[in-house]
Amino acid sequence: MSWEENVRRVVPYVAGEQPKKANMIKLNTNECPYPPAPGVEKLAAELDCDALRLYPDSNTTPLVNALAEYYHVKPSQIFVGVGSDDVLSMAFMTFFNSEKPILFPDVTYSFYDVWADLYRIPYKTCALTEDWQIRPEDYEQPNGGVIFPNPNAPTGVLENLETVERIIAANRDVVVIVDEAYIDFGGVSALPLLEKYDNLLIVQTFSKSRAMAGMRIGFCIGSEKLIGYLNDVKFSFNSYTMNYPSQILGVEAVRDDAYFKKTTAKIIATRERVKKEMRELGFSFPDSKANFLFASHDKVPAEQIFRALREADIYVRYWNKPRIQNCLRITIGTDEEMDKLLAFLKNYLSVYVKKA
Ligand code: PMP
Repeated sequence: MSWEENVRRVVPYVAGEQPKKANMIKLNTNECPYPPAPGVEKLAAELDCDALRLYPDSNTTPLVNALAEYYHVKPSQIFVGVGSDDVLSMAFMTFFNSEKPILFPDVTYSFYDVWADLYRIPYKTCALTEDWQIRPEDYEQPNGGVIFPNPNAPTGVLENLETVERIIAANRDVVVIVDEAYIDFGGVSALPLLEKYDNLLIVQTFSKSRAMAGMRIGFCIGSEKLIGYLNDVKFSFNSYTMNYPSQILGVEAVRDDAYFKKTTAKIIATRERVKKEMRELGFSFPDSKANFLFASHDKVPAEQIFRALREADIYVRYWNKPRIQNCLRITIGTDEEMDKLLAFLKNYLSVYVKKA
């Protein structure tokens, strides 16, 4: 008998790489290409380092209050964590404890099956349609819980509120988690459904639309009962998940709504322009409502384009996985960054197509 027999073995999630190169174009992890709100920078410069001696507020009260005010819910309906990955992992641990499998799409955020394996939660995937839509009827089978992102990742496809509600309504006996990491780029949030469904948990993040991936701030909104159970688990795990700087800088980001709206509008405008230009280059993709495109080319394999881009210090995301091995997930950067990407692709494809 070896001690290794008692190790909890897992195959970890693989995050997109974080290269540190001076002139690279980083379009691989769906970060915001613009800085956080100006008030965040100001507050960061004035940070009181003496406050770091003390433990932070374990309830992240100011941030919870700021979010409650912004989303017009009670503070007791909000739970904050260290990025939405932390919130999601806590939610998996808290709510998915059935013998029945939890359900999620076959092409989706690749952390879900990792958490399910980590916590030994049985799961079953439901195939998206050919054009990457969820089939709501798939979620009308016995299950121990449901989770899906809306818009979905890595496809960018948004499901309408009727589909989302149909899935929640069919699953009143389990918790349904809607991961809205990318909802601020033109999607319609499930927030209005909270009044009707106490089994709905909506998860969002500051990492994309609020330009604060480095601060690790995520949150979820649900019924007071759901949030109460989540807090019980969190406080049985680690009371002080969120550090002090994240808490105060997060509040500042929520307060500057004008900047938030301006930034997301700019990203949406760039996305729509890039869609047109990518189509002209022979790419096709589902109609993304997120801050990325999920593109394949009609002549050149995705993996090849991925490698060529990488050599040019343009980073996008590629997975060699069933159904998606001919797709590149390309984050929407600044107009200037996207112009460089498009210029590279235009040149690369013209050489490639000539050779072929
Ligand atoms: N959900 C989805 C669908 C995502 O793509 C991501 C980003 N990797 C996350 C959640 C987690 O983001 P974060 O932990 O930075 O909030």
